[in-house]
Parts: sequence; C-alpha cells; structure tokens
Amino acid sequence: MPATDVLIIGGGVIGLSLACELRRRGLTVELHERGRCGNEASGAAAGMLAATQMAPDSPYATLAVASARLYPAFVRQLQTETGLAIDYGQCGTVLLGANAHAHPRGPALSGEELRRLAPGVRFEGPAYYFPDDHYVDNRQLMSALRAAALQLGVRLSEDSPVTEVGRTAEGAWVRVADGSCRSAAAVVNAAGSWASQMRLPVDLPVIPRKGQALEMRLPAGETLPRVLVGDRVYMSPRRNGNVVIGATLEDAGFDKSVQPDVIEQLRLRATALLPLLQQAELVGSWAGLRPATPDELPYLGQWEDSSYWLATGHFRDGILMAPVTAVVLADALEKKSPQLPLAAFAPGRELGVRAGNQC
Ligand SMILES: Cc1cc2nc3c(=O)[nH]c(=O)nc-3n(C[C@H](O)[C@H](O)[C@H](O)COP(=O)(O)OP(=O)(O)OC[C@H]3O[C@@H](n4cnc5c(N)ncnc54)[C@H](O)[C@@H]3O)c2cc1C
Repeated sequence: MPATDVLIIGGGVIGLSLACELRRRGLTVELHERGRCGNEASGAAAGMLAATQMAPDSPYATLAVASARLYPAFVRQLQTETGLAIDYGQCGTVLLGANAHAHPRGPALSGEELRRLAPGVRFEGPAYYFPDDHYVDNRQLMSALRAAALQLGVRLSEDSPVTEVGRTAEGAWVRVADGSCRSAAAVVNAAGSWASQMRLPVDLPVIPRKGQALEMRLPAGETLPRVLVGDRVYMSPRRNGNVVIGATLEDAGFDKSVQPDVIEQLRLRATALLPLLQQAELVGSWAGLRPATPDELPYLGQWEDSSYWLATGHFRDGILMAPVTAVVLADALEKKSPQLPLAAFAPGRELGVRAGNQC
C-alpha cells in the first residue's frame, strides 16, 4: 500500500482545511501547491459568510448552514493551534434592496432599525437583516491554515505544481513538475479554478469566474459594524477599520488583470450607499478567479469507486464552505456514513471518463 494516505492538490482554503482535518484524525497527508498557499481565490475573497441568505431547504443551503455553524469552532481551533489571530465577526448582514441571491426570512427593516444596524448608510427602499451571517478576514484565515498544516505535520510542498493524476489498483499517483511521481491511497483535486488544467483521469468542467475587488481604510476610529450588500456591490468589514468592497463577476478566462475603471465603479457604488467612504483611503485592489461548475455546485467526493477525489467548484462560497467540506470529505475518505446529503455534489453527475494514463 502507498505510504501516504491522502495527497491533496492545491493549497487554497479547501485543500488546506481538508489537510488539517485529516491530520487531526491521524491520517498521513501530503499537499502540493503550485505557487504559495492562499495566493489565489482564497486570498482574493471578501470573506463574507452568507449562509442564511440562501434559498432555504436546498442541499446547498443545508451544507452552507452546517458550515456556518462549524465556523466559530473552526476559527477557535486554528487560533489555538497556531497562536495567530483571525478577525472573525459574528455581526450579521444588512441587505439593501432586492437581490436575486438573497431570500429574506423576515419583514423589511424600519427606517429606525436600518439607522441602528447600518449607521451612516444612505438608502431608500426595503432593507433586510440577516443576523446569523458573519465575516472572516480570509487572508488571516489562510495564514493560520498554512501554519496549522505545517504544525500538524502535513507534508507541504509549495512551488510544486502537479501536472498529471492517474489511478492504480492500490491508489492513485500524481506527477509533479520535476517529472517525479508521488503515490497515495487517495488523491484529492482541490486546485480551484485550475482543477482541470492538468492531465486527469476524468474530464472536469471547472471554469474560472473572475472577481475584481478593492480594500479601503475608513477614517481613524471608524469601523463598519456589519456586512452591507447593495446593488452590484457589497462591503465586508475588518476589525481594523478596513472595508473590502466587491466584486465583479466576469468570464475572462484566466486573466487576473485589475482594471482601474472597474475598481472606480465599485468604489462609487459603495460610496453612494456609505458616504463615509469619501474620506477613506484606498489600501489596494486585486482580482481573483472563483472556481465554477456548470450547475454552480461544487464537486465533493469520489470519482466512481476510485481513489481519485474532488473538492472543488465552490464558486462564490468557498470561504464559507471550507469547514463543512473538510468534515464531509474526511468522513468519506475514512469511509464513514455522510452526516449530510451529498448526492447533489457527486462528481459523477456530469463528468466524462478519459482513457487511463500511466506513471
Ligand atoms: C473577488 C472574490 C470575492 C469572493 N468573496 C467570497 C466571500 O465573500 N465568501 C466566500 O465564501 N467566498 C468568496 N469568494 C469565493 C472563494 O474565494 C472561493 O470559492 C474559494 O477561495 C475557493 O477555494 P479553493 O481552495 O477551491 O481555490 P483557490 O483558493 O484558488 O486554491 C486553489 C489552489 O490550487 C493551486 N493549484 C492550482 N493548480 C495546481 C496544480 N496543478 N498543482 C498544485 N496546485 C495547484 C492554486 O495555486 C491555488 O492556490 C470570492 C472570490 C473572489 C474572487
């Protein structure tokens, strides 16, 4: 049998969360990251944890709510393991106006409630409050996940792109950039938007969906008390007074260029809702690539009964979905019965098999 239990491709929030969970359960784990951990979508996100805005009772919402419930313990454990601080706010979201993605459970806020929950906001129209939605500073989260993985004994290789994956009777193998092969009882593809950009045993229709975003620093002493979501713009707070403003949703292939006019449009939309931003200073702007699937649901699980596994396609919600993805994948890898319905996320639902490759 291979010496390694699980080999993970990709050091984003999904790959690292799974790696830590598996090590805590005593499995041996090797993780290969093409560049530096956390430098792709997981570092580019806004960190909103918006589980309760989703249409209730769908398998996706069930998974999201389960993940949101795991978040406080997920953050606490990483902080304890690493000693690193993670800015995580259980502050709720105020939705300003209608939004196709949000499903309010209660009545619209009164003007007085809106002023109390979202001081300084200028908005006429129905607004709604989602008290159980949260935010996390995803960059701090990624630093803590990387540190925890190393501390827990994950064999972590950065600057180590995987070029090919294959299966054997006993497990699976990957080829890394220097041409050598690494074998494991199971290989998990958590390579985000790049999940199909290597030679694989199956066709994987994961595509990148670009998002541009910016960060601003409010005047000294000011903080945004909760997440604000408006028309084609949202604002995610940070405890230090910064605000992450996002985001576009673009089909631009693997292009990650930042367009100043697009960033300016986002800034103007946010400032119209929160005039205090006129006094804010630009901290930075960036673009990232969300891993999307044709039905916008992630692939979670095993390809047929093989040792090749998928944990990708988390699209807009990968930061939110990381804790539950780690738990359900770790359970499945340990052959435990799933605690949640996972059929909707089965990798086989629309993948085609390729002719076997050999290492
Ligand atoms: C602007 C923006 C805002 C967002 N806001 C939110 C939000 O508020 N809340 C939320 O929950 N989600 C949000 N998301 C979505 C979230 O960022 C993603 O769903 C999540 O980060 C996906 O994580 P991942 O680990 O699958 O992918 P990634 O973070 O992209 O990680 C994949 C990793 O795999 C590596 N890799 C690729 N190919 C290989 C290879 N061949 N070999 C080895 N390694 C490889 C990459 O280098 C990368 O580090 C946002 C995304 C964007 C772009």
